[in-house]
Formats: sequence, structure tokens, C-alpha cells
Amino acid sequence: MSARSTVFAPVPLSIQPVVIAGAGVIGLSIALELTRRGIGVTVLERGRALTQASVAAAGMLASEDPHNPAALRAISKYSIGLYPEYKARLEALSGLPVPVQTTVTVQYLEDGSAMQLAEESLDPRQLAAALLGAVRAAGIDLREGFSGSIREELRGRTLVISAGAWSSESGGNSRVAVAPRKGQMLRVTLPPALRSLREVHRSEHIYVVPRVHGPQAGTALLGATVERAGFDTTTNTADLARLRAMAAELLPALASETNAPLVESWAGLRPGTPDDLPVLGCGDDATLWATGHYRNGILLAPATAMTVADMIEGNVPAVDLAAFAPGRFVR
Ligand SMILES: Cc1cc2nc3c(=O)[nH]c(=O)nc-3n(C[C@H](O)[C@H](O)[C@H](O)COP(=O)(O)OP(=O)(O)OC[C@H]3O[C@@H](n4cnc5c(N)ncnc54)[C@H](O)[C@@H]3O)c2cc1C
Repeated sequence: MSARSTVFAPVPLSIQPVVIAGAGVIGLSIALELTRRGIGVTVLERGRALTQASVAAAGMLASEDPHNPAALRAISKYSIGLYPEYKARLEALSGLPVPVQTTVTVQYLEDGSAMQLAEESLDPRQLAAALLGAVRAAGIDLREGFSGSIREELRGRTLVISAGAWSSESGGNSRVAVAPRKGQMLRVTLPPALRSLREVHRSEHIYVVPRVHGPQAGTALLGATVERAGFDTTTNTADLARLRAMAAELLPALASETNAPLVESWAGLRPGTPDDLPVLGCGDDATLWATGHYRNGILLAPATAMTVADMIEGNVPAVDLAAFAPGRFVR
């Protein structure tokens, strides 16, 4: 048996509909890919679709970020390769645009040097609108406000858990080590000196992500904190001021509130894991986990959708998932 095939139990499921718990970018991207392959899907969403981490994100497709764990490299590259088709499908089904906002990231390194990375960014709110439109156009059974028992709803069908920061508590008897990592962020109007900013500026602890197209054009996101604060999503004036001060170290014109007025601020809950890697694969009870994407869920959505659909069809996924095995935290 190959190393790849030990991380999931190929289940001959193509004749059975699948139940997906959680309608964020991960759950809905999986739903769309399964539907494309002719596999029936029901998505159960506790609240409203695409209102949690997936719309709190900055939208960097940060496959080249030197601070990402090395084990993310292959799946990140795979996802970047899938992105054009994934995006085109969302746009075609929904009729809504998801323009690439930026194509270059200036990465500042600890030794004071900087390098240019060929990375794209998207506006996650535009992505979310197109994804939801695509899901509806594809006729996917999406049940929002679901308050029943997921296990009862299953009736023998395969369960995919993509419940973001809430995944640990959503698996019934199964558990994975996913916990919320809060991220606060602010959006400011770009001052005249930075109006033509077209690239992301990023160091280890701060990023400035300009919006170039769509309703947010002419503004930039300054983010984000990384906090262990349970499920709290409040923002804090002192933390936001600290983010602005760090952003001003990269681009001084952002320092003053008068120059770069605040448009809005928010906080979202990243699904974090102890090793900052996703949880992707089959648990001990045929539950499939697709969660723990931490800081890279927007980047990894297409690859996650493809690998989960491959696992459900019994195909060996295109990338090695051994580092993402759900059982890796069990001693
Ligand atoms: C501040 C911030 C900045 C970020 N920036 C980036 C970035 O630049 N690039 C990037 O790639 N990623 C970024 N991320 C990470 C990215 O947003 C997440 O990894 C991704 O959105 C996770 O998607 P998800 O679908 O797993 O979770 P979510 O979007 O949180 O969706 C989970 C869904 O599951 C539902 N749910 C929970 N429990 C249950 C249950 N029991 N039954 C049914 N439904 C349930 C929730 O209501 C929710 O709708 C950022 C995140 C934050 C917070």
C-alpha cells in the first residue's frame, strides 16, 4: 500500500449523496466539485453560508509566503494551478466577477531585505458572492440555519466536516485538534500618495493588501492579529492601532488616521491546528475531515475540493496528504 493511500479509506461512494457540515469556502467548494462529478450533496450550515472566516480573510493566495510551513508547499502549488479554472467556473455559474486584485507581493524579511513574489490576491467577499451564486445555480441542497443532529441527518451517507473553527465540536464522537485563532483586521482609505498601490506589502507580522477592483477599490486591508481568544470576535481599538503602526513601518503614509481614514474593522476565527497544517483525510469512522486551513483557506479551497472529491471517489489524490492526516495528533 502506498504512503498516500494509507491516509484515507477509499470508500465507493459515488452512488451515495454526501453530507457536508459547514458552508464556508471549504464546504461549498467541495460541494461544487462533488456536484460537477455527479455526486449528490447536502450542505448543512448552522448559521448563514459564507459569513465566518471565509469573508473575514484578506484574500492573499500566499503560496510563496516563506513563513508558511514547508509541508504546505506542494498542496499550495497544486491549488494555485487549479485556481484559474475554479474561478472561471464560479464566474460562469454565478455571472459574478472575481477579479484578481494584485499580482505581486513585496515580502520583507527579518534581515531587513525585501523580495518580490509573484502571488495573486482576491477579494474574499467577491469570491463568496460568486461561490454562493454558483452553488445556487448548480442546484445544490444547501440548508442554512440547520439546528438538528448531523449524525441523524446522515442515514448511512458519508460525512465531510468543514465547520471551520468549530470543527472539533462538530464531529460528534470523533474529534480533531482544531481551535479558533482570532484575526482582527482594519480597512482604510488609501492616502493620495498610495492611491496607485498595486502590490501587497507583507512582513512576518503585518500585511497591507490593496483593493484595486470592485466596491473596495482605493482602500487597503491592514492585518491581522493572531490570537488565542476562544470564539470571541470583538475588535479592540488598541490592537487596531498596533496593526496600523506596524503597517506604517512598511508604508509610512498609512500612519495617520487623517491621511488614511478607517473604513471598517472586523475579526474572524481561523481554524487553527497545533502544527498550523490542515486536517484533510478520513477519520477512524469514515468521517472525512476538511478543516484546519488556518491562514490559507482561501488559497487552499480548490485543492481541498479536488482532494476530498478524489478521496470520495476512491482515487488517489494528486498531492500527498500524509502530513494532514486527522489522526496525527493522537498519541
Ligand atoms: C483575519 C483573517 C485573515 C485571513 N486571510 C487569509 C488570506 O489572506 N488568505 C487565505 O487563504 N486565507 C486567509 N484566512 C484564512 C481563511 O479565511 C480560512 O482558512 C478559511 O476561510 C476557512 O474556511 P472554512 O470554510 O473552513 O471556515 P468558515 O468560513 O469559518 O466556515 C465554517 C462554517 O461552518 C459552520 N458551522 C460551524 N459548526 C457547524 C455545525 N456543527 N454544523 C453546521 N455548520 C457549522 C459555520 O457557521 C461556518 O459558516 C484569513 C482568516 C482570517 C480570520
